[in-house]
Amino acid sequence: MKLHTIALGCQMSEADGEEMSQTLQARGFRPARVPEDADAILISTCTVRDHAEHRALSLIGSLKPWKQQDPRRVLIVAGCAAERLGESLRKRFPHVDFVAGAKSIESFPQLVERALGDRFDAMTESREAFKEADIPAASAVCSHLTIMRGCNYTCTYCIVPSVRGRELYRPAEAILKEARSKVDAGAKELLLLGQTVNSYSSEIDGSPVRFPELLRLVDKTPDLARVRFMSPHPHYVDERMMAAMAECPSVCEQLHLPAQSGSDRVLKLMRRNYTSGSLLAQAQSLRRAIPGIVLSTDIIVGFPSESDEDFERTLSLVSELRPASAYCFKYSPREGTESAKTQDDVPREVKEERLARLNALCDTLTEEALKSQVGKTLEVLCEDSGFGRTRGGYKVKWSGRSTPGELLKVKIAGAARRLLVGESNEP
Ligand code: SAH
Ligand code: SF4
Repeated sequence: MKLHTIALGCQMSEADGEEMSQTLQARGFRPARVPEDADAILISTCTVRDHAEHRALSLIGSLKPWKQQDPRRVLIVAGCAAERLGESLRKRFPHVDFVAGAKSIESFPQLVERALGDRFDAMTESREAFKEADIPAASAVCSHLTIMRGCNYTCTYCIVPSVRGRELYRPAEAILKEARSKVDAGAKELLLLGQTVNSYSSEIDGSPVRFPELLRLVDKTPDLARVRFMSPHPHYVDERMMAAMAECPSVCEQLHLPAQSGSDRVLKLMRRNYTSGSLLAQAQSLRRAIPGIVLSTDIIVGFPSESDEDFERTLSLVSELRPASAYCFKYSPREGTESAKTQDDVPREVKEERLARLNALCDTLTEEALKSQVGKTLEVLCEDSGFGRTRGGYKVKWSGRSTPGELLKVKIAGAARRLLVGESNEP
């Protein structure tokens, strides 16, 4: 039995896709590189923006012929769009066999067994001849590790809390155990994941383990070279977190600081609990505490009532924050969110024009950030032959030999559009 997994959207949905596909692998499935070879397809979907959900729906639609070729094939749709649309997905796409919403990821093993166990058994019998040689190599050099799920915030534009539910923290022991087993399987870098990853809070033997302590504990994992985390909330970026980042050798000099807007008026309407001033002060402290730290951000343009002046404030904030990369989005009203009740009154052309101006500014900042690395010799973790990333998260390409998992020193000879070009390390 072979399974093809497709994740659409953020790193959370990728991590969820991996977790569910592991459940299916424990059930006897082996990975299939392409849908044509697969007996089952698992789609891990996103619904943060309307566009993401549309991509998921059109992918599901396009898999109808795949299913018709052999009706025994199984199509599973999971994740945030599955949570939002529920069983209506099966009405619209009768070729979908099973819908597993994002809130049920913890119980996915039981749910899928109940719904599809018999069919999987039948598939195993009809597919006895699958070859062990089909099994690709195991662990990735950079592995995801989910530490918390859900979100307790109520940012007015955001659908995440309603499709993922309240915050749930995995026990610290379970996280540390998974970290060790991922490293034993070949991972050199771990990406700790959660919607507000740094709100993490649990305990070990009655002592509190908040995010900074968790970083310190994960850092001690033997043979682990690098730790990153995504997506932190500015509210929990405090002195203790900065100290842990500065003091843990494996924690990379990189931080995503999602600003969303530079206008305090809009930030308030978005119900983000910081101001542009406090965010910039944080960036300054971060740069002082962790020299060379590389920052990135998320921005939404065209939130209801955003004026030209508000947008100018966003441009100033971004200019001062100087992120090395930024993910900029046009506001997309999501049904059921608070801001969707107010009129989406910034015209499409205005949103597009603002997005283009913002992207142009961010491209310049990216270019400057990349250029500032030229001439340095940086530690690069090889992810593929001649390709890897620096501790700050910059992508590097160079000609030469390298094995995935290898840590090398690469002299940066130049910068291309979105990556650094290293000197050849060929003899
Ligand atoms: N938990 C993360 C964000 C998850 S959603 C955080 O708090 O940073 C990822 C990004 O999608 C957000 O940072 C935001 O920039 C964008 N986003 C979320 N809802 C959106 C909407 N309705 N329209 C446009 N962009 C949105
Ligand atoms: Fe959405 Fe805000 Fe929660 Fe991030 S913190 S997932 S933007 S509600």
